[in-house]
Amino acid sequence: MRQSVNGHHPGLRAKHNEAAALVSQMTLDEKAGFCSGSDFWHLEGCERLDVTSIMVTDGPHGLRKQDASVDHAGLHKSIPATCFPTACALASSWNTDLLKQVGEALGREAAAEDVTVLLGPGVNIKRHPLCGRNFEYYSEDPLLTGQLAAAFINGVQSQGVGTSIKHYALNNQEYRRMQVDVIADERSIREIYLRGFEIAIKTAQPWTVMCSYNRINGTYASEHDWLLNQVLRDEWGFEGLVVTDWGAANDRVKGLAAGLDLEMPASGGVNDQRIKDSVGAGDLLEARLDLAVTRLVSLGLLGGELTGRSQEVDWQAHHNLARQAAAESAVLLKNDKKLLPLNKGSKIAVIGEFAKQPRYQGAGSSQVNPQQLDNAYDALAAFLGEAPAYAPGYYLTSRVKGSLPDQAEGSLQSGAEGSSQSQAEGSLQSGAEGSTPLTEEQLIAEAVALAHEVEVVVLFAGLPAIYESEGFDRANMQMPAQHNRLIEAVCNANPNTAVLLFNGGPVELPWLHQVAAILEMYLPGEAGGSAAVDLIYGQANPSGKLAETFPRQLDDVPAHQWFPGDGRQVQYREGLHVGYRYFDEAAEQVLFPFGHGLGYTQFGYADLQVDEQEGQLNCQLALTNQGGLAGAEVVQLYIHKVGSEVWRPQQELKAFAKVMLAPGETKRVMLTVDIDDLAIYDKWQDRWEVKPGEDDFSWIGQGAWLVEPGEYEIRVAASSQDIRLRQSVQLAGSQGLLSDAIRRVTGPTINQGRLQVDDETFAAMLDRPLPEVEPVRPYHLNTSLGDLGGSWVGRLLMKRAMKRFRRNFNVDNAGDRGKEDPAIKMFEEMTKTMPLRTMVLFSQGKLSFRMLALLLALMNHQYLEVLRLLLGGREKWQ
Ligand code: BGC
Repeated sequence: MRQSVNGHHPGLRAKHNEAAALVSQMTLDEKAGFCSGSDFWHLEGCERLDVTSIMVTDGPHGLRKQDASVDHAGLHKSIPATCFPTACALASSWNTDLLKQVGEALGREAAAEDVTVLLGPGVNIKRHPLCGRNFEYYSEDPLLTGQLAAAFINGVQSQGVGTSIKHYALNNQEYRRMQVDVIADERSIREIYLRGFEIAIKTAQPWTVMCSYNRINGTYASEHDWLLNQVLRDEWGFEGLVVTDWGAANDRVKGLAAGLDLEMPASGGVNDQRIKDSVGAGDLLEARLDLAVTRLVSLGLLGGELTGRSQEVDWQAHHNLARQAAAESAVLLKNDKKLLPLNKGSKIAVIGEFAKQPRYQGAGSSQVNPQQLDNAYDALAAFLGEAPAYAPGYYLTSRVKGSLPDQAEGSLQSGAEGSSQSQAEGSLQSGAEGSTPLTEEQLIAEAVALAHEVEVVVLFAGLPAIYESEGFDRANMQMPAQHNRLIEAVCNANPNTAVLLFNGGPVELPWLHQVAAILEMYLPGEAGGSAAVDLIYGQANPSGKLAETFPRQLDDVPAHQWFPGDGRQVQYREGLHVGYRYFDEAAEQVLFPFGHGLGYTQFGYADLQVDEQEGQLNCQLALTNQGGLAGAEVVQLYIHKVGSEVWRPQQELKAFAKVMLAPGETKRVMLTVDIDDLAIYDKWQDRWEVKPGEDDFSWIGQGAWLVEPGEYEIRVAASSQDIRLRQSVQLAGSQGLLSDAIRRVTGPTINQGRLQVDDETFAAMLDRPLPEVEPVRPYHLNTSLGDLGGSWVGRLLMKRAMKRFRRNFNVDNAGDRGKEDPAIKMFEEMTKTMPLRTMVLFSQGKLSFRMLALLLALMNHQYLEVLRLLLGGREKWQ
């Protein structure tokens, strides 16, 4: 429905004139009121002018619509919805059509529930494998990220429902996400961290962009004029509105001027008053306010078209799509002696509790209450016609001390999902089906005994829920020791072992060389269990490829030396060296490279022909399915600049295609690259443009995208380290020349397998002296509760905040479960790192900024200021 000529929904632009006419009839009060939500999930409406109060809700892989209690951490239940595979899984499909279909299904579910904007996709780059939220993001590569996100957005928006691409920008870790200042150079920002947003925004025009919590080179994203006005709107032509992440507004008035339209959630009118005061005092142009409100009213009008549009959801069809998507997203990492697919007649044993209690999504704001949930064990039994032999191998729910995942030791877990929403909630089990709990050793011994008796073992392992979540980063890259020990012991007993992994990001694989097959399922959504069976028995042929590198160990990760910083500042010293852009130069450091993935058939690549036409490189090749099974191959095209004059990665992904082939079939595959997409960003170069009606170029500013002239090698590949075809082309390059300054920036060097970036190099990349890390004292509005630890006021505030949170979320009554619920861990972490200003906003005005100022003055021992504030009179406390 309502598709525009270039393929995307016309969005807010279509409503602009109508909205502007309505805004001209609104009072200042009404307009300021529109700038923040009316509650946690709703925007303001205006009955008088017939503007609907619309609802927005998470999230990226399923609808999380809350109808009673609200939160943004997955603590309270939401209505049942289809839980599709998470972004880390979907990205491994490399299939834009699939992402579009999933988007369409999500759009249908949102429309049926009168939700106008779905808060996704999340497109932050996976800078470091430990980022707790990587499971919600697509890739370490911006092109793959951008194209998948565009397809997803087009899918959702084709249903008349908007999206919110997030978190703009450079939100690549959870640690202190609400304050951390990301120090990064403009070239890496533009070529790596913004590029995915740019591609998706230019090609799919999401209705909204969600700005992130963090700072970028000293300025909060929510008030970053360069980020929001200049880059997003002026350069990329974004037509929608900018909304804060929940609680991300810092200085609301400054934000409005910088291009922030909407603050979420409601802040009890505190900031609306500030906006009014600023307009009254002439500090903020009313025209600025009108512009934001016009966008908000446009969204309300679009939402109005949705209201009451009855739409039935075919839940079974969506479940089937979730199953197909999970199967297409799994990555067959290893398959020695073609262990997989299994023969239906082989005698198997199923080992690992994940087979019965699946880990299928991550915790936090994206957590869905699934419509239905398949588990692999039941799916296997149904497929085989009998229940296979089973041993749990490890416990997810504690039965005895010493049987929990390492990070959860000492208390109970709530089940597979480990949260208040868990399917398994409350279902404490004893050991193997009703018997006395076993010790870790006994669990392993039982599994080993079973492994001896069968032809093939199918072993389910990975990361329990408490290991990765929104709100905190992973502590290390290891799986629980019990999972690793189990795999080693079972492989010793039976080498025909296939391990299925369920996790949101790369893990170390110490048993890699012992195990015959590894199938990476990621977090595959509600139908992951049946999809696993489809893959194990060859009903589906694995066709996923890694959208991220699997490093050997943390020390090899390029960003690791500077991750996660001290919390107030994090330096991105590795620059462009993110993921394979680094590892392709240090190939020995990976377990599996970016783009890697096997299947049950093999593909032959031949006859690459490259031809340059009208600003494009058209690259054609012949792809043949050389095996006996139908299957799909992800063909990747990387480009390497021969003899570059500047520092740049060895090669970069510039195109890809997923191609389905029947056994023996050959297809010609065409991959097209815009030559402009080979450009690098030179911040020192002058930017020229021909203005309409003029013939000459005029200077419009500093910073330009330029294509280096000379030789480029086109590499057609099956992974970033498996290049099958190469061909060189000569390109004329851009008119302008790269500046001398960019040539002088040497960038990081690799010395004995380690990335080296000294202060001087990083300062040259930044083009400014290294910024100091700000001191903890004096305390200010953005000091975190945790940083106040030293003062009695700080301790008091912290205690109150924690108490309030525990009461609101019933943590004390959650028993031992509370200690291990990732959502609770997330909230505790968030409370510690929450900036003081958010206490004012979340208190809905009960704590005023002036009261906070008094507390701050007290803590900073500024007694004159205390006096001044006290003498200001009671009315000033409001
Ligand atoms: C998350 C967002 C989410 C929002 C609303 C925030 O904590 O960072 O991704 O959309 O909450 O739940």
